[in-house]
Order: sequence, then C-alpha cells, then structure tokens
Amino acid sequence: MIPFNRPFLTGNEGVNINASLASRKLSGDGEFTKKCQAFFASKFGFQHNLLTTSCTDALEMCAILLNLQPGDEVILPSFTFVSTANAFALRGARLVFADSQADNPNIDPADIERLITPRTKAIVLVHYAGVACDMDRILEISNHYKIPVVEDAAQAIASFHRGRPLGSLGALSAFSFHETKNIVCGEGGLLVANSADFAHRAEIIREKGTNRSSFFRGEVDKYGWVDIGSSFLPSDMLAAFLFAQLESIEEIQAERVRVWEQYATLLAEGAQRGWYSLPVVPDYATNNAHMFYLVCRNLDERTRLIAHLKNAGIHAVFHYISLHSSPYYAAEHGSRALPNSDRYTDCLVRLPLFPELTNEQLKFIASEIHSFYAGSCNS
Ligand SMILES: *Cc1c(COP(=O)(O)O)cnc(C)c1O
Repeated sequence: MIPFNRPFLTGNEGVNINASLASRKLSGDGEFTKKCQAFFASKFGFQHNLLTTSCTDALEMCAILLNLQPGDEVILPSFTFVSTANAFALRGARLVFADSQADNPNIDPADIERLITPRTKAIVLVHYAGVACDMDRILEISNHYKIPVVEDAAQAIASFHRGRPLGSLGALSAFSFHETKNIVCGEGGLLVANSADFAHRAEIIREKGTNRSSFFRGEVDKYGWVDIGSSFLPSDMLAAFLFAQLESIEEIQAERVRVWEQYATLLAEGAQRGWYSLPVVPDYATNNAHMFYLVCRNLDERTRLIAHLKNAGIHAVFHYISLHSSPYYAAEHGSRALPNSDRYTDCLVRLPLFPELTNEQLKFIASEIHSFYAGSCNS
C-alpha cells in the first residue's frame, strides 16, 4: 500500500533528543526551544514567536489574546479543520462561516465583507494547502473595518504572499508541526505575534497566566499570577526533534516540491480532458507543496475514484466536512448556503504526498487515475 502520508525523518532527531536528555532540561523553554524560535526569527522574520504544544493551542491563545467575549462574532471559512473554529467557540464567540473561493478552497474576501457586522471581532483565515489567501483584499477589509486577522497557517510553513512569509501578515498566526504537516515533531505548534503588545501577553498566557518568562530574564524579582492562561509550552525534547527538521527544511521542501510538480505534470492531461481540476496557485502565492489534490466532478465519482485507488494499493483521502453543516453547528448556522465549501467537501480528494515518494510510485498513481477515468467514464 502507498500510504497517504509518511512523516519524514532526517536522522538527527534522535541525536538532538539525546542531547536534550543529557542536559537534564526536559520541560519547556530550554536550549532547543530557543534554537527553534531563533530559527523562525532569522529565516522568516517572525520577531515574536513561541513554540506551543499544537497549532490548536496556538489558535486558542489567539482567541484569548483578542479578548473575545460571548456574543462576539468571528468570520472564518467553513471548509477547515475543527480547531480553527473550536478555539473561538471555546471563548463563547459566535462563528460566522464564509464560503470558499470558486477556484480554490481559501476564504472568499467578498463573502467576508458581506458578513461583517458591528459585532465582528476577528477574521480568521486558513491558507489551505499552504497557498496564500487573497491577502491584498483581506488586509484591505481588515484595515477598513479595523478588524484583526488571525492566520491559521497550520499548513503554510515556508510559503509566501508577494514575497512576505505567511504567518507575518495578520495580527497573529498559528503553525502546526503535527506529523501530517511539512515540518513535524509529532505534535507541536507555533504562535507568531506580529506586534509587541500581543507578544508580551502571549508569553504570559502560555505560562499559565504568570510572568515567569520575565522572571527568568531577570526583569522582575519574583513571578506571580497576572492574567488568565494555560500550559501551552512543549517539552524541550520535542523542540529538539523539531530543530533537526528545521535544519533540513530546504531538503524536505525540495523533495515535496518534486513530488508536487510530478503530479502536476502527470495529471495535466486528465484535467485538460475535463475529468477533474487541479490545484490553482494564484500569481500572488507560492506553493510549499503541502498537499496535492484533485477536485472531482461530483461526490459519486470521487467515492469511486478513492475505492479504485484503494484497490490498486494507493491511499487517497477526502478532506474536511464543511463545519457549517457539522452536527455541532448546523442548527446554529442556519440555512445560508456555502456552495463552494460544499463542493470541496464532496469533490476534493488528496493524493499521497511525502518526501520519500518515488517518481515510479508517482507514475503508478497517475496511471491508476488515468485508467479509472479512461475506463469508467469514457469521456
Ligand atoms: C493541522 C491543522 C490544524 C491543527 O494543528 P494541530 O497542530 O494538530 O493542533 C489546524 N488548522 C489547520 C488548517 C490544520 O491543517
């Protein structure tokens, strides 16, 4: 079976973890955490970044930092992972789901603008597949209505919008190092604050609402409880793992891009024949090769394609069930239609993508997709 994902290991993860063990500093904010954070600052210009236990937790920190209160409204895409929504639902915010764009799953700026009310306190966006949202228009809306943007950049490491790294464009952003992402440490995340005010408070929220970080820097002579917070900092052993990955980020990315471009080449003909559509990368965005997907013509065809590939030993998977029609939120959402979001729910299929996929395997996958359409559809 060709798996959907196989987390890539550089070989140095264990070396670093052993160094971390030898240091007898196992809790958070040790040497490897500092190395990772320095890496993000120098590589991507994230001046204020903090490792977190997950992207989910970084998003929960964003919701706390924005002081969201029950009744506040948050606009977010419906075609996303539950964590994008849960983080804000936990603060009692009302979730206002926006549609995806017609040609890619990112949030539609026109829909954001339609949904703004005097109660809107945040615009949360997801750079789906690591491809930038339409940030020119979204930042224009954010500035005009004075509503902060949170970037769920879980999939968006090492990707850019007009030369600026994703994660640096909103007020706050969150990355993931879950084993399904480009750069991994099992479970882990990163909070990026793009202002000093948020950065200062983020440090406190991450340390159980205490000013412990200021204390360790010698800025205060004792530390205490100064705000709400929780335990959002990962063990330095996980940071040790992560740092090995970061040191190889260029090699990892190069292999992912190879796989992505092979797919794009091998599957172009089927797209021309109208069998499916390929991912669209707008001219303002780069492609970090987080994901390769096809958009099928309908749900039935997608179901049969996934089954066909499974029979051939290839694990391809669909993605999100739109949150506006989820058991938890459908009643609250009501009947407002989100047709593009529904279409990606029904028709999008993700193909295996990981650095060790060989060109032979890619040819095999493409030929199975071709034979599915050439055989079953005759179109
Ligand atoms: C993976 C992912 C998350 C959650 O990341 P964790 O690190 O597992 O918490 C959130 N949002 C999006 C869009 C994701 O892809």
